[in-house]
Amino acid sequence: MSLSIRISPQLALRQSLEINLGQVISIKPELKISLTLYKEREGICTKLYKDALKKGNVRQYEGHGMTFEFALVSIKDVPEFIYKQCGHAFSHCLMSGWDALLGGQRYARSRGSWLLFVIHDMYPEMPEKAIEYVAVHERGEMVTLGDHNLASKLEFAIAAKENKLRWYMNWIEVNCPASFADVFSYQVHLDLPDTEKMRDALEVFQSSEEAELVLNMIEEFEWPYSVLQRLSKYKKVSDEVAGIISRAISSAESYVSSSLRVVQITTSVDAMVKETLHEIVERGFKQYVSIARVGDLWRKQLISLDTKFAEVLTNKQQLLGLSVYIDELGEAGNPNSLGLPLDFAEMLALL
Ligand SMILES: [Zn+2]
Repeated sequence: MSLSIRISPQLALRQSLEINLGQVISIKPELKISLTLYKEREGICTKLYKDALKKGNVRQYEGHGMTFEFALVSIKDVPEFIYKQCGHAFSHCLMSGWDALLGGQRYARSRGSWLLFVIHDMYPEMPEKAIEYVAVHERGEMVTLGDHNLASKLEFAIAAKENKLRWYMNWIEVNCPASFADVFSYQVHLDLPDTEKMRDALEVFQSSEEAELVLNMIEEFEWPYSVLQRLSKYKKVSDEVAGIISRAISSAESYVSSSLRVVQITTSVDAMVKETLHEIVERGFKQYVSIARVGDLWRKQLISLDTKFAEVLTNKQQLLGLSVYIDELGEAGNPNSLGLPLDFAEMLALL
């Protein structure tokens, strides 16, 4: 058997997945969050950090050229919107801490203007190393300006340097398969306000010694073939689920645009969508699907379906006359949408 034949499928897989990574290298953070929201988030994060300091729950990370602090927090103290969006680790760049950040050296020695958090009890009995690696991921988000895939690469590069990659991948797969499925998704979860000052501050951070070192580690790290195989399996599941979602929505569409009574439309759509999506459960996809990857698709398609439904209601009102229309609407419980959750994780929980 020729050696080149034996390694070629490995190379092919590596190439195709590395292309995925290559595409995101150029992605900058979505500087989209409003200043007001950002300051609100800042209030929450600052309080969480101060409380953690008081309880002695702020840890120092030192290794592989990185020095930073992170706070261990409990899920009961973290607002739902944060961990729903970010999972079990998140960070915040302090607006009021620009001076320290721009101070360069001072920044390198201190916690700088970044607050890093790991939710230590989001999964039962998180091992120390799993906590450390996810903190490194958050550090990577900063260095790469919010690139989740590159931050993942750093997280796993460090695990590999410590000969713990296999152990760590297994731990993630067993305890938080959704994170495993998200490794190759295009999620950006470092929300920053769109201001020039903030961008300047980030650029200063990007040119720091640590950032250079981290970017090198990311560049040098190669996913082991066995890991890529597993990631590719997860990617396939997400692609299949995307197909199932599209099928569910298009079969629901035929009910929405039919001449059925409102109550029949809503109950039929509900039943039809749940029945179609149930395939996700039947085929054992539920725990392997990447919400980051398919959640957006679901939201967009559902919004368009709800918009059609709203149009149908308007037409009905004109066609039936107000009093008959009000009766028909009342019979259906006065819906203003089809009532399916926009959040795909919530939808999955109903199946
Ligand atoms: Zn991330």
